[in-house]
Amino acid sequence: MNILVTGGAGFIGSHTCVELLQNGYEVIILDNYYNSSPDAVKAIEKITGKSVKTYETDMLDKDGVEQVFAENNIDAVIHFAGLKAVGESVQKPMFYYHTNLEGTINIIEAMERHQVKKFVFSSSATVYGMNNPSPYVEGMPLSATNPYGWTKLMIEQMLCDACVAHPDWHVALLRYFNPIGAHASGLIGEKPNGIPNNLMPYITMVAAGKLDHLNIFGGDYDTPDGTGVRDYIHVCDLAVGHIKALDKLDQIQGARAFNLGTGVGYSVLDIVHAFEKANNLKIPYEITDRRPGDLPSYFADTTRAYQELGFKTQHSLEDMCRSSWNFVKHLYQQ
Ligand code: NAD
Ligand code: UDP
Repeated sequence: MNILVTGGAGFIGSHTCVELLQNGYEVIILDNYYNSSPDAVKAIEKITGKSVKTYETDMLDKDGVEQVFAENNIDAVIHFAGLKAVGESVQKPMFYYHTNLEGTINIIEAMERHQVKKFVFSSSATVYGMNNPSPYVEGMPLSATNPYGWTKLMIEQMLCDACVAHPDWHVALLRYFNPIGAHASGLIGEKPNGIPNNLMPYITMVAAGKLDHLNIFGGDYDTPDGTGVRDYIHVCDLAVGHIKALDKLDQIQGARAFNLGTGVGYSVLDIVHAFEKANNLKIPYEITDRRPGDLPSYFADTTRAYQELGFKTQHSLEDMCRSSWNFVKHLYQQ
């Protein structure tokens, strides 16, 4: 089976490509390397011992997208490509709407032209908005609080509409919780870029001595230790979730949403302490003001992904912390 992986050189895409190749799928990557590099493709090839056909193509380039579909007999698309920084999306909303929506439309239209009927989409827990209680269940009302979140919600809607127009399409909307960790080889992972917004890339930069301490955004939430709680999932488990979804796509009629999380919430302090213990390091921190827009706590209900996809996470928090640092440590040793 030939799988087109858009954004396949990125953090989650690269881990998913490894998993696909190790499960006998052929992989074609479309990526413009806006937030990644060809090194990730080399690393995927090194880990798997298999070669990957790669197109350096912007998904906004209609002709380029058409060429990828015309040159390959694509059976399914896994669509990771897109912009993902919440704060930046507030500053540059049109950049986000233009890239994420138009890029996805180009991919969907190419699927229509080439009769590709299977699609797996990288959605996010952000579509549950601010008002749902945890655990989040797929049928809850959806909303968004920033342009990035709106693009995820709008793409989910676009895909539901595409499935009404094409009753023989099979679409999985995978709502990721908080992916962290890295491949055990240390060859692929999440590269901290500038000053990171997300917790784990920030912690690894503190561990590397590039930043002197972690600011913990809020110590007075109504949570067990006062700091924010999230559902962190190992990126290798997340990658497996894509294979499980692909394997079951035939049985999915239309578009169906699945939470991909562990179902367990950890606080910021839990993560700091787990990271310190797993790597025998100290992470200096200060508790500062809450970050505007942050929710106190959320985590997934994982029942549907388990019952319908057979998806269950395998990696512990310790694995997540150890592998995150193993990857970043390698970066600074090069
Ligand atoms: P990433 O930035 O590492 O990967 C995205 C990839 O898409 C990159 O390789 C980038 O170069 C590529 N890309 C960006 N714009 C492109 C364009 N116009 N044309 C072609 N390629 C383009 O991000 P990630 O963390 O791997 O996330 C993958 C997907 O999962 C994204 O859609 C993101 O919104 C979604 N997601 C991520 C998280 C998270 O916390 N990482 C959580 C929920 C959902
Ligand atoms: N967080 C923090 N300091 C940071 C980055 C994040 O305290 O430098 C907290 C944040 O307030 C939230 C948790 O860590 O409670 C996860 O934040 P992240 O940005 O990684 O994910 P998201 O907020 O999108 O769930």
